[in-house]
Amino acid sequence: MLVTPAYAAASANSPLARTVIERREPGPREVLIDIRYCGVCHSDLHQVSDEWGGARYPMVPGHEIVGTVAQVGAEVRRWKVGDAVGVGCFVDSCRVCEACLAGEEQYCERGMTGTYNSLERDGKSPTYGGYSGRITVDEAYVLRIPDSLPLDRAAPLLCAGITTYSPLRHFGVKAGDGVAVVGLGGLGHMGVKLAKAMGAHVTVLSHSPSKREDALRLGADDFVATGDPRAFKQNAGRFDFILDTVSAEHDYNAYLGLLRRDGTMVLVGLPEAMPLDSSALIMGRRRLAGSLIGGIRETQEMLDFCAERGLGAEVEVIPIQAINEAYARMRLSDVRYRFVIDLASLKSR
Ligand code: NAP
Ligand code: ZN
Ligand code: ZN
Repeated sequence: MLVTPAYAAASANSPLARTVIERREPGPREVLIDIRYCGVCHSDLHQVSDEWGGARYPMVPGHEIVGTVAQVGAEVRRWKVGDAVGVGCFVDSCRVCEACLAGEEQYCERGMTGTYNSLERDGKSPTYGGYSGRITVDEAYVLRIPDSLPLDRAAPLLCAGITTYSPLRHFGVKAGDGVAVVGLGGLGHMGVKLAKAMGAHVTVLSHSPSKREDALRLGADDFVATGDPRAFKQNAGRFDFILDTVSAEHDYNAYLGLLRRDGTMVLVGLPEAMPLDSSALIMGRRRLAGSLIGGIRETQEMLDFCAERGLGAEVEVIPIQAINEAYARMRLSDVRYRFVIDLASLKSR
């Protein structure tokens, strides 16, 4: 076993604190990765606080991992020591179900193995995420980080990037479409950049009027402050596609009214369930759908897409010692636009 420092939550109410965890020696088809950066996703907050239920403690969060290969198993052919690599939200899946065979491992019929707060395929070994020094992962669940992407700005692509890229692609967003991105946080700001790169006309819908300038700087064509009581009336029937990234409760029905006939709203944010007004869908033959991250093949496609266009996340790099403060700021929507932990800080106390 390999011992590595990490930050963990001991329970739903405890702050994250320094600890030590064990990683396995890489098996024949596994790689050991020295973690350089790890993004902080709002899902980390939901899970650390057990907002989704079933949390396992101690919990080492983190599923936006980038680093370099430190060691490879005897049969590994895809990777060599020193390669810049990434690990996203899952580290394994059954590999034989229809979803896995289709390259949509996130929808594995037997359940994907989450990078943290999950169990390995043996059904008993807990998984620990990227707020740590090293991780051992099967080579098939590792992504290549293209040379031109700076590692800190690449980390958030492993969750925020793919979670917004996948529905834009799956639902066929194309040049000229009117796209609204709801919520300008980690996911939302990548949604803006990616939809813009696909040629869409992009509008940010935000409950933070102070984000207007940033939204336009990030590439949005328009900005609507949703706190303005006239916003929903003035923009009724305007968009072909709405990507809803909001992490807190809000009224889906109001946003559905902003879709054109045959428009689609996709939920990627994961707050508590909200009541749905059937007429909001029926009037205008509108669609409401959801989407979960993306498979390994599509995640690699997204990384290459970002590298070709010079797209990365807007990051605020923090030492791991600042993680609890970062969580507090994220709960207040005070993040511009992704915290990324520099794991070199694990060496100092
Ligand atoms: P984030 O950085 O905290 O951004 C969430 C944004 O939601 C905020 O910046 C804010 O944007 C908006 N918001 C927050 N509270 C709000 C409120 N009370 N009313 C209206 N808007 C509010 O979070 P994130 O990391 O992007 O994650 C967003 C959500 O997606 C989380 O629920 C997360 O668990 C989920 N998620 C889902 C997947 C998936 O596969 N489906 C993957 C990753 C994350 P404004 O200030 O602009 O309004
Ligand atoms: Zn995430
Ligand atoms: Zn499967």
